[in-house]
Amino acid sequence: MDDIIIVGAGIGGLTLGLALHAAKIPCRIFESAAEIKPIGVGINLLPHATNELATLGLEQALARVAIATEDATFFNRFGQLIYQEPLGRAAGYDHPQFSIHRGDLQMVLLDAFRPRAGDNRLITNHHCVGVEQDEFGVSVHFSDGPGGSNRGTVRGRIAVACDGINSAIRKQFFPGEGEPRYSGVNMWRGVTRWKPMLSGASMVRAGWLSHGKMVIYPIRPAGADGLQLINWVAEIETATYRKRDWTRPGSIEDFIGAFADWHFDWLDVPAFIRAADSVLEFPMVDQDPLPRWSFGRVTLSGDAAHPMVPRGSNGAGQAILDARALTTALLENDDPIAALAAYQTQRLETTTRIVLTNRTNPPDAILREVFQRTNDQPFGAIDDVISRDELVALSEGYKRISGYSKDALRT
Ligand SMILES: Cc1cc2nc3c(=O)[nH]c(=O)nc-3n(C[C@H](O)[C@H](O)[C@H](O)COP(=O)(O)OP(=O)(O)OC[C@H]3O[C@@H](n4cnc5c(N)ncnc54)[C@H](O)[C@@H]3O)c2cc1C
Repeated sequence: MDDIIIVGAGIGGLTLGLALHAAKIPCRIFESAAEIKPIGVGINLLPHATNELATLGLEQALARVAIATEDATFFNRFGQLIYQEPLGRAAGYDHPQFSIHRGDLQMVLLDAFRPRAGDNRLITNHHCVGVEQDEFGVSVHFSDGPGGSNRGTVRGRIAVACDGINSAIRKQFFPGEGEPRYSGVNMWRGVTRWKPMLSGASMVRAGWLSHGKMVIYPIRPAGADGLQLINWVAEIETATYRKRDWTRPGSIEDFIGAFADWHFDWLDVPAFIRAADSVLEFPMVDQDPLPRWSFGRVTLSGDAAHPMVPRGSNGAGQAILDARALTTALLENDDPIAALAAYQTQRLETTTRIVLTNRTNPPDAILREVFQRTNDQPFGAIDDVISRDELVALSEGYKRISGYSKDALRT
């Protein structure tokens, strides 16, 4: 009855569970899936998020399975270098930027949560269908899977919706909101085992959305065969799209034409795509920012609160920062309603700015600028197209807005 009820054992829910447990605030996590499997492909954790995970004692476990990313490198679709800057520790941050398989990240969190909090604190096969509250607590209702039969009701002090972009609790509070908003860009995502490219820890962005953009970065250290698991995302403006589903298979023939002549000295892109283990298709979506997340004893967190288009490496990181802010608010406020209001004050405006900036000026705005200024033609010298100062300003602007400039982190 005194427990905080966390709905969803994804990245945000598990991090919140760990943070609450460390703060000695009892909680239980209820997850819709029957079993937590390492699903997904690549995700990036910027230094503000890895700082929080280090506080939870997870940096070494992450370092064993992830890549400490060293540089962001931008090319046009002719393979010409536009801009390169160091990232994470290589850029002087106190914590690394990690590029990691989402499944590996989820397993690191799970392998920490279960022994620390106890096996009985994570309950699977519980799909939240709604929540009610009274002056003493919350009643969270569950079925066994979407559309499944009733599994009963759990009482708690507070409920936190960490149930992702299809959040049932968000839908309850905003019934007229409709489906996530399609950005006009479709994504094909995959992983390929390949020899290390560039620095071996580079995050590459190349091309532009109208003709085809690629994001490529390694997510697991090289094995005995010298090959890394390398994540890639092909992003192309596409009028139509299919319903989003994290596990929908995609077809290489639907998009490889855009990259047919991308034969660079650092990578043969068509060969690399064709060597993929598997290909998934997912439309790039977000939702308009909400006016509020906290309703008495119930609040939203992570993608349930602020789904964003994945153009700033910030989705998982902002869920992790929510967990920290919510834990702090609960420690600082005895009254749970005041705590959830304080959490909303701390996080809503910041994440609203990030959601909107990810639509307009995320880091890949660098590619858009060069694409427009060159009329999509090869350039002679990049300095004739855009100055180094402008490139740095574009990159630093996003860091400031999303809260991971070095100055912001040091203070
Ligand atoms: C299966 C899956 C694969 C993904 N793959 C990628 C990827 O490859 N790359 C990427 O950038 N992002 C991926 N994401 C999204 C990414 O994890 C999030 O954008 C980000 O980490 C924010 O995390 P979150 O905890 O808010 O949401 P999520 O990580 O999406 O977690 C939500 C959790 O809630 C559970 N859940 C959903 N509905 C209910 C309900 N009604 N009751 C109880 N539990 C519920 C889900 O099963 C999931 O475990 C994936 C998400 C999922 C669920």
